[in-house]
Amino acid sequence: MSGQQEILNALRAAAPKLEVVDAAEAVAAKSHDYWMRSLLQRRMGVTQRGLAVARPSTTAEVSSVLTWARKTKTSVVPFGLGSGVVGGVLPERDQLVLDMSAMDKITSINDNSLTVTVQAGMRGSTFEEQLNAKGFTMGHFPQSIALSTVGGWCATRASGQHSTLYGNIENMLLGCEIVLPGGQVITLPSVPRSAAGPDLRHIFMGAEGVLGVFTELTYRIHPLPETQKGRAYAFADLAAPIEVLRKTLRAGWTPSVTRLYDSREAGRNFAGVAAEGSSVLLVLSEGPSARVEAELEAIAALVKEHRGTDHGDEPVKSWIDHRNDVPTFESLLDQGLVADTIEIAASWEKLVPLWEAVVERGSALDGMLVVSGHISHSYTQGANIYFTFAGAKEEMADRLKLYDQAWDTILDATHEHGGTIAHHHGIGRMRKEWLKKELGGAHDLLVALKRAFDPDNIMNPGALLDA
Ligand SMILES: Cc1cc2nc3c(=O)[nH]c(=O)nc-3n(C[C@H](O)[C@H](O)[C@H](O)COP(=O)(O)OP(=O)(O)OC[C@H]3O[C@@H](n4cnc5c(N)ncnc54)[C@H](O)[C@@H]3O)c2cc1C
Repeated sequence: MSGQQEILNALRAAAPKLEVVDAAEAVAAKSHDYWMRSLLQRRMGVTQRGLAVARPSTTAEVSSVLTWARKTKTSVVPFGLGSGVVGGVLPERDQLVLDMSAMDKITSINDNSLTVTVQAGMRGSTFEEQLNAKGFTMGHFPQSIALSTVGGWCATRASGQHSTLYGNIENMLLGCEIVLPGGQVITLPSVPRSAAGPDLRHIFMGAEGVLGVFTELTYRIHPLPETQKGRAYAFADLAAPIEVLRKTLRAGWTPSVTRLYDSREAGRNFAGVAAEGSSVLLVLSEGPSARVEAELEAIAALVKEHRGTDHGDEPVKSWIDHRNDVPTFESLLDQGLVADTIEIAASWEKLVPLWEAVVERGSALDGMLVVSGHISHSYTQGANIYFTFAGAKEEMADRLKLYDQAWDTILDATHEHGGTIAHHHGIGRMRKEWLKKELGGAHDLLVALKRAFDPDNIMNPGALLDA
């Protein structure tokens, strides 16, 4: 019997009811996420597969796996639904994939205090549908809602399309249960607010499975909104609608969705709506009718002040209907293209220079066809920019080179212009070097934390940081 079989047998003995699969194809399917770079490498013949997939259905089973992992010094890679886009999931041949998708139930809803408790492996769209059926929403709508888990959202510090009203995942998580490396189960209590020491939830949110495994989460929920209304506007430039957004937030309005497309993206997505070369702003407001009417009226006045033109609500309805349709990376590669998206954030005064620098430098790369961007999350202090790039090269190796150059160029420009190198996709393997640049001396603290939690470096090694 091989050493690896012996290790798996020890796992089966430690947790007899745990589902453990080691068939090559089934393991390969859960040995990567949607990271374009790893897809390119797979197309170039690099094979990627972990040791086996364990699929726990209880917290006790997760704990047994992490106890076994410490004893046998086996690395464990938590896996939600694998929708991450930066290489957070990429197990080696001797590493176990911990597939959370069987922990997929809402365990309770508290109508009085507006909270929901849910197991970490539940699919986002099923979760939101079940909440809706009871008259609630979580207000978290990542484009990948049907591809991702409610636990993966916390592990990556996710953002949904309605974040301007409902906030991002860190504004929604109240309490959670986490299994630490070594198997200890801890519970961070669900309370409306607390000053009981530092907020430990923030150590685990965004840790991408390197410090422990989320098994259960308690999130804030809301009654379904009474009204939802949208409006689309076009502008001759980008600076004017950025001012509209800034002043909207500054005045205290919080439309649920704020999306501003530069002229390249507006041309791709809203051809026929506005004149060629225009930028397009979409606004969706929701909540009590009186507030929605007042909010849209106030925004319309700002649009007028900044010489925008009103294009009605159809473009917003069309965006809602198609908002989660995206071409697969596979289909882009089949067309000879290489493409990706890179989301960053900066304060208001830095946005336009940063945006211009990224488009100018990125477009100058050999083989680049287009670099474009849109704002999809706005705050009182600034906004994100979600850049998309697409280039063409015949050979896969040249596409990989262009891919790396594009990331280098866009994140270097972001860092130089004072933006953060990640708004909501996290770090994975793609952004580790820029995380060091962004955190400076504080990066050592993160490494120290990892070593304290996981002295054997067995939780998702290689993601987020090198310990
Ligand atoms: C088409 C598309 C659109 C997207 N749109 C958005 C968007 O609008 N907003 C957004 O924020 N993101 C978006 N993403 C990125 C992705 O969906 C998110 O990062 C999501 O939160 C990942 O969830 P997952 O369950 O699929 O996690 P996975 O991809 O399986 O894992 C991601 C990371 O979290 C770790 N992890 C997973 N589950 C757990 C757990 N229970 N405990 C501890 N660690 C865990 C993994 O080890 C890995 O490091 C998009 C991705 C795609 C492909």
